[in-house]
Amino acid sequence: MSDMELIGAALEAMKNAYAPYSNFLVGAALLCADGSVYTGCNVENATFGATNCAERTAVFKAVSEGKRDFKAIAVVGGKNGTVDAFCTPCGICRQVLCEFACENLLIVLFDGKNVKTHTLAELLPLAFTPENVK
Ligand SMILES: [Zn+2]
Repeated sequence: MSDMELIGAALEAMKNAYAPYSNFLVGAALLCADGSVYTGCNVENATFGATNCAERTAVFKAVSEGKRDFKAIAVVGGKNGTVDAFCTPCGICRQVLCEFACENLLIVLFDGKNVKTHTLAELLPLAFTPENVK
């Protein structure tokens, strides 16, 4: 699957975002090693603290379906769903992604025109990983 195809899946997932408080819609598409894709959107909550990000929605969907080997995740987002800047994963999502794919996971970002790719290790240096608690 190409980066643009994965971004397309993230853009489609963004349409389902539930973000009545921030109006910042986010979509994510997680590519598994077996080629399957799990998408997610942000799901806000009136308590704010119970809000879940698009990336974690995608990861939790995948893990709950037995997938743990991830290759890449595309993330898109913007105010009112307008994608005009790169939307990078928050710190909590970086940590959750690191649980399953800390070294080689590719983070695929899209600002509406350009694609930018980082490894998770670049976005979360010196991470606390499962290795730390063995
Ligand atoms: Zn997040």
